Amino acid sequence: MLFHTHVLLGLLAFLFIHNYLPGNEYVILLLILVGSILPDIDEHKSKAAQLSGILGNIVSFFAKHRGIFHSFLFPFLVCGILAYFWSYPYALAFFIGYLAHLIGDSLTPMGIPVFYPFSNWKLRGPFKVGSWMEWVLLALLTILILKEVLY
Ligand SMILES: [Zn+2]
Repeated sequence: MLFHTHVLLGLLAFLFIHNYLPGNEYVILLLILVGSILPDIDEHKSKAAQLSGILGNIVSFFAKHRGIFHSFLFPFLVCGILAYFWSYPYALAFFIGYLAHLIGDSLTPMGIPVFYPFSNWKLRGPFKVGSWMEWVLLALLTILILKEVLY
């Protein structure tokens, strides 16, 4: 999915769950957004890789696009580490953002390798990246977000 679709998915996830998570709302929003953008750090040309500078260069050089960073294992691992060393609600916020990204990508024909590196099986959908279907999705997400914010 495109960068803005991921941002909107993250925003929508935030609007749905922020009332249920204790902690600073801005930190939660930030963590959800980081989670929903971060997975594409494995792609050299992505916004995530560009925004993370040298780290993005290193990661995108070594990691295969839609490999380990698009597997469910990675967010589980990071969430576990964050929960153990930092805060459970904040770890959950990151996890939810990451999950929103993975769900978005699982709607595309390229899909995501849910159990990578143990299996290469991919969860896929019919939404071609950048196609009219994605724009319809983008419009729907915008409407949902506006509805959540305004009412
Ligand atoms: Zn992705």
